[in-house]
Amino acid sequence: MKVYLDNAATTPLDKEVFEAMTPYLLQHFGNPSSHHQHGREAKQAIENSRKAIAQLINASPDEIIFTSGGTEADNTAVLAAVRGSGIHHVITTRFEHHAVLHLLEELERSGEIFVSYIANDADGNLDLADLEHLLQTSQRSLVSVMHANNEVGNLNDIGRIGNICEKYNALFHTDTVQTMGHYRHDLRKLKVHFLTASAHKFHGPKGIGFLYTRKGLKLSKLIHGGGQEGRSRAGTENIPGIIGLTKALQLAYADMDAHQKHIQKLKDQLIGKLTEILPDVSFNGNSAIAQKSLYTVLSINVPALNLDLLRCLDGYEISVSGGSACSSGASSHVLQALGVAPGRDTIRFSFSKFNTKQELDYVANKLAGIYQLIAA
Ligand code: PLP
Repeated sequence: MKVYLDNAATTPLDKEVFEAMTPYLLQHFGNPSSHHQHGREAKQAIENSRKAIAQLINASPDEIIFTSGGTEADNTAVLAAVRGSGIHHVITTRFEHHAVLHLLEELERSGEIFVSYIANDADGNLDLADLEHLLQTSQRSLVSVMHANNEVGNLNDIGRIGNICEKYNALFHTDTVQTMGHYRHDLRKLKVHFLTASAHKFHGPKGIGFLYTRKGLKLSKLIHGGGQEGRSRAGTENIPGIIGLTKALQLAYADMDAHQKHIQKLKDQLIGKLTEILPDVSFNGNSAIAQKSLYTVLSINVPALNLDLLRCLDGYEISVSGGSACSSGASSHVLQALGVAPGRDTIRFSFSKFNTKQELDYVANKLAGIYQLIAA
């Protein structure tokens, strides 16, 4: 049985998304910057998509720009605050994706900013009193805190963090790459200035995402060239991608409650089964606590064996990951920040609406089998 449980790395494209995209590859191929009919058709399709996305997240269409994915959206957001709004102090966490952390490190090295990290406990819960403390500086800060962590699934209270940022007149960027399409975001309520998303995490195509920027804020161009995306992001638009992103988000919103219920149930069943059959299993961060973690991610911690567990599972056609796909090969900064004990292995299972109980039973049994074999 071939089982795919690496949906935090990427999700399979939904067939309906593929069907929505194909006319924009084959018939409506015009360049939206062209003034003839083919161009106008393409331009109209983009603006309809922008409107549809804005409607789903309760934002204005002119607050959305399309990007090549989450990484570009995160980079654009941080640079907008630093170069567009003249911010020199950025407050973040040790758990952010490298799309944020590596850029901040680079900006700090070049002397453009200094970075502070919010204190956290051993499970990765952020100390919001420390955030308030860090915000009590004479200069305006950018706070960059992700909604949910991609490796262990910890959820951060972005509603509360937004309120704190407002109290101190700070700008707030949140990376919602792992939660867009899995939770409802209401940008009229959320006190956020920048929010980022990527289609391939919710059954859309790769290479397309978007950045929400609150009206009135200035973007600093990451890519220079033509005047596309309201002069904010140059380059001929990825129209099939934009259509696919929009369709995927519409589908995700339409069935969100049912999918959340289905996936949370699978996750709970797997937690129960693994606790029962695996010796000395524990869960990283808040991964096993339903209210405090993303329902699509379960990160387990098991005694290390004298073999490569992930390769062994791969041999059974089970696709899972150790930390995040992007950091494979390197030790995970997230697990390090959690202080995960050496001599233990981490497996990240990440689920989608397409997974079934049979698949998870198969995986749990194979894993138990591996441990029994080694113990024998
Ligand atoms: N932010 C988070 C939390 C992610 O999990 C990822 C991808 O894994 C990204 C950003 C980068 O997104 P993309 O792959 O679309 O560039």
